[in-house]
Amino acid sequence: METITLENIQSEIDHTFLLQKKQSIQNRTQPVQERKVLLEKLLAWIKNNHSDIQKAIHADFKKPYPEIDVSEIFVVTSEIKHAIKHIDSWVKPQKVSTPMPMLGTKSYIHHEPKGTSLIIAPWNYPFNLALGPLVSAIAAGCTAIIKPSELTPHNSALLRRLVEETFDKSQVALFEGEIEVAQMLLAKPFDHIFFTGSPAVGKIIMKAAAENLSSVTLELGGKSPAIIDANADLKDAAGKVIWGKFVNCGQTCIAPDYIMVHHTIKDEFLKELKSQIEKMYDSSRKGVEKSKDYARIVNGKHLKRLKNLLADAELKGANKFYGGYVNEEENFFEPTILTDLSEEMEVMQEEIFGPILPLITFGDLEEAIHYINLKPKPLALYVFSKDNDNIKRIFKETSSGGAVANDCVLHFLQNELPFGGVNNSGIGKAHGHYGFLAFSNEKAVLHQRIGLTATKPLYPPYGFAGKKI
Ligand code: NAD
Repeated sequence: METITLENIQSEIDHTFLLQKKQSIQNRTQPVQERKVLLEKLLAWIKNNHSDIQKAIHADFKKPYPEIDVSEIFVVTSEIKHAIKHIDSWVKPQKVSTPMPMLGTKSYIHHEPKGTSLIIAPWNYPFNLALGPLVSAIAAGCTAIIKPSELTPHNSALLRRLVEETFDKSQVALFEGEIEVAQMLLAKPFDHIFFTGSPAVGKIIMKAAAENLSSVTLELGGKSPAIIDANADLKDAAGKVIWGKFVNCGQTCIAPDYIMVHHTIKDEFLKELKSQIEKMYDSSRKGVEKSKDYARIVNGKHLKRLKNLLADAELKGANKFYGGYVNEEENFFEPTILTDLSEEMEVMQEEIFGPILPLITFGDLEEAIHYINLKPKPLALYVFSKDNDNIKRIFKETSSGGAVANDCVLHFLQNELPFGGVNNSGIGKAHGHYGFLAFSNEKAVLHQRIGLTATKPLYPPYGFAGKKI
């Protein structure tokens, strides 16, 4: 058996990239039907291997099976079906109107595939965040190389099997590996790079992309607030926040990172939060660790990072209102709610990406808005309120990738909406038509039909010199 060395991987990357480069040129003229065939094949593989997918993702960090079904498998199959249904209308040349000086011409936007694409995926939704962008790449007519996260090896091995059994490597290929492999791939002149991960690595990706002027979509993270207005339905809001925060054990890019609650309802809301944790994860009162519906932290390094965040907050005076228990052998971190926070605590500065939920208070909306606007723009912003004017005001006066009123996380599942961040939380959009656009070049096409246009008088010799235009 051939040993896998970095040299072998490099030459396989070189070879695959060349194959995909050639294929990407052919793809420009392939009928759209071919893209649908690829998407149908992907859909069929997922349907036929449902239980293998569940087992692989569960093996990596005990993600509960129902969460795998909804947040990994359903999300991808729904994206595929949506693309198959709409691809014909997405690729249609988009006519634009002809202004007077252009009389005699016609113009339209032609959506051509950008060409070769690279998809770099994170570990937290390792199936969905590798394949969702792939659906958009295929729908747009691009070839793709996927680099899954090294932190979820069972899922990566499954994705490799999926890719090998479904696609020719000239169309879709996958390279497993650590940062070195990502760097080898990033050195290639891809036409588009679609990256999902942290803002810190996003900057590295954008720098590498700049070397080849590859376009980028950066799906990043950050601190997404959930604002609880004084008149909110507290029980309803608590249930939604608890689910949005603790699904996938808090390792969700759009999880509410922290809560801002109106100071008059703080104690009542805390009680509701506690009762919702118990209802969802500890109805037998034997501890959340016994719940089958609660995932684990992906590895010991991230567990330690979270423990340090908690220790730093407690050292600086935070109060542990709920939870805090950690079982290092199991990578278990109990749902944890903190109060009495201050800005110098790390937990209020960096993205938590785990089951620690800080709760701070605000006096009026102005203060809440001001607080959010002082921080980098979040990926998502949640407002719970019965007052539509308050909701509108917060959405209007803050900037975030997405915004949801009276719910959490749900916008990720709405294929008709663009999904993504803004500045620190991301650049570019994904999902449905917006994912298709990310992998397409909107080529401006102008057709001169009669040869004589109103622009002719603009040619030299310039008869209009000195006249009013
Ligand atoms: P990460 O940035 O550490 O890694 C993501 C990918 O980049 C992995 O495949 C990894 O191998 C690769 N990578 C890491 N360092 C690299 C380097 N120096 N050069 C090249 N490639 C490198 O992110 P993660 O820990 O896997 O995921 C967590 C982050 O992702 C969080 O910030 C979260 O908010 C964000 N996220 C965003 C979305 C979104 O849709 N916006 C979704 C999920 C996760």
